[in-house]
Amino acid sequence: MYKATILILGGGVGGIVTANNLRKKLPKDYKIILIEKNKEHSLAASYLWLMVDKRTPSQISSPLKKLVSNDVEIVYEEVQKINTEEKFVTLPNSNIKYDYLVISLGADLEYPTLQDESKGTDVFSFYNLDGSIKLRDKLKNFRGGKIAVMVSSLPYKCPGAPFEAAMLISDFLKKKSLNVEVNIFTPEPQPLPVAGPQLGQAVIDLITSKQINFYPLHKISSVDTINKKLLFDNNNSYNFDILITIPNHKTPKVVVESRLTNEASWIPVNRNTMETKFENVFAIGDITTIPLPGRWNPDKPMNLPKAGVFAHSQAIFISEIIAAKILGKESKEIFCGDGFCMLEAGEELAGFAYGDFYASPHPDVKMKQLGKSWHLGKVLFEKWWLAPFGLKKSILKMMLRSGGKILRIPIDM
Ligand SMILES: Cc1cc2nc3c(=O)[nH]c(=O)nc-3n(C[C@H](O)[C@H](O)[C@H](O)COP(=O)(O)OP(=O)(O)OC[C@H]3O[C@@H](n4cnc5c(N)ncnc54)[C@H](O)[C@@H]3O)c2cc1C
Repeated sequence: MYKATILILGGGVGGIVTANNLRKKLPKDYKIILIEKNKEHSLAASYLWLMVDKRTPSQISSPLKKLVSNDVEIVYEEVQKINTEEKFVTLPNSNIKYDYLVISLGADLEYPTLQDESKGTDVFSFYNLDGSIKLRDKLKNFRGGKIAVMVSSLPYKCPGAPFEAAMLISDFLKKKSLNVEVNIFTPEPQPLPVAGPQLGQAVIDLITSKQINFYPLHKISSVDTINKKLLFDNNNSYNFDILITIPNHKTPKVVVESRLTNEASWIPVNRNTMETKFENVFAIGDITTIPLPGRWNPDKPMNLPKAGVFAHSQAIFISEIIAAKILGKESKEIFCGDGFCMLEAGEELAGFAYGDFYASPHPDVKMKQLGKSWHLGKVLFEKWWLAPFGLKKSILKMMLRSGGKILRIPIDM
């Protein structure tokens, strides 16, 4: 008989980190169950490298069970219902009761322009593993022309990804001496708007130095896949040879039906504790919405970016909070809103954006100059993330010994 059951929904970034950290903090007579519909995990940040043939699918994937402590029970099922009144979740053939619930179900991706394969053969996305493989194969055989990287709608996860993708693709194709034009279209007024105008300009400078064209305030109205033409709300139209979409992001249906969401259908949480409006129900990562003080339009507050770095740090944070609650210890910790991002720029260089996203009157985010060490930091993180659970500690120690300076970057700043 267990003293309490902690149920974690979603075995992606937030779910894996919560399961492993809670397991370290709680004695074995507390049961931890992780529910995930896929047996295989892949690291999304590495799709960018896969797309330009710097990784194979097996180099960036692992069976989920290898990444999670053996003392966590993994249930490979799709969650169909979350009942926060009677404290259980429904799977296809059973219900599981909980005392504490952590929801880290991420965002579902919708690829409207990919629905008709016969018309959409030149439409791609690197936002999932299969899409990245198809895009890689297309880019390897590309003979030159116009590439459009298009943000379909807001919000989307990893706000740096379209810019990184454009730079990596440009670099990859130019090395083959192909004549290419890379264009980025987005409904946003600037890159990474939440980070403010200075950082946005730094990213614009970076992409334009690589002859990449940037079209802000371009909201897509239709994609003509036969004539390969994009038509935007502002009546501008552009031709493409390859279209790469950042898909629409949607809340998983099971969450929409759970009465946990707000009018925009994401889960609002207390930004300091990650608690939802239901007792002992926490939500973290991409599924949440956390308004931040805006910069140019106070009537339209911006939200904490959907990014793995936040899903990860929120997971560590709530493990502490939940363990303290369960064990009757006092915890004065609050989630601080610090975040960072290594922005891949091609040529094995990356920029480093970091700061306090909860700062007032607006997030305080800065960017360090391009360097090899930021790129190396991302590579080391990838290796650590995909290492089997039992080896993670020794791999981290080894990395700290060999590349300590690099790994301490985010911690020291
Ligand atoms: C190309 C790309 C590059 C990126 N690069 C970076 C980066 O450099 N830095 C960074 O910080 N972030 C990056 N991100 C974003 C990062 O991957 C996400 O923000 C992060 O994964 C969010 O974690 P999460 O736990 O909220 O959701 P996820 O990691 O998406 O996990 C959600 C899990 O829930 C499961 N699930 C969903 N519905 C159900 C259900 N009904 N039943 C059972 N299981 C279900 C899914 O299968 C999934 O495994 C990138 C994303 C992409 C696509």
